[in-house]
Amino acid sequence: MSDCIFCKIVAGEIPSRKVYEDGDLVAFHDVNPAAPVHFMIVPKEHIASLEECRARHEMLLGRILLLAPVLAKELGLNDGFKTVINTGKGGGQLVFHLHVHVLGGDKLAHV
Ligand code: 5GP
Ligand code: ZN
Repeated sequence: MSDCIFCKIVAGEIPSRKVYEDGDLVAFHDVNPAAPVHFMIVPKEHIASLEECRARHEMLLGRILLLAPVLAKELGLNDGFKTVINTGKGGGQLVFHLHVHVLGGDKLAHV
């Protein structure tokens, strides 16, 4: 998607502080962190939100969730972390390219 900021990050057209990349996924620090450690795991495929996911995305979604604790540990979150997926305007989603927030390193507001 040409006007999608996360597609531009995936393509390397906008710089980001990457923490992970493979053929399907990329993870990078949030530019406006809400916790001492705050990064996002993003599929390279443009999927607007969780609402747009279909059965064919099952493996991708599983891979994102399995990657979260691995990267959290790598970034020093040995005491746990929070994962957040904002979906749609009502869910507070600002960037309409699916992403899973991973936050930690401080006391976080309980959901
Ligand atoms: P959402 O509300 O859609 O779940 O969150 C989008 C997140 O993307 C926000 O936390 C925001 O700080 C982050 N963000 C927006 N633009 C950029 C950017 O250009 N680079 C990075 N690294 N993060 C961004
Ligand atoms: Zn996109």
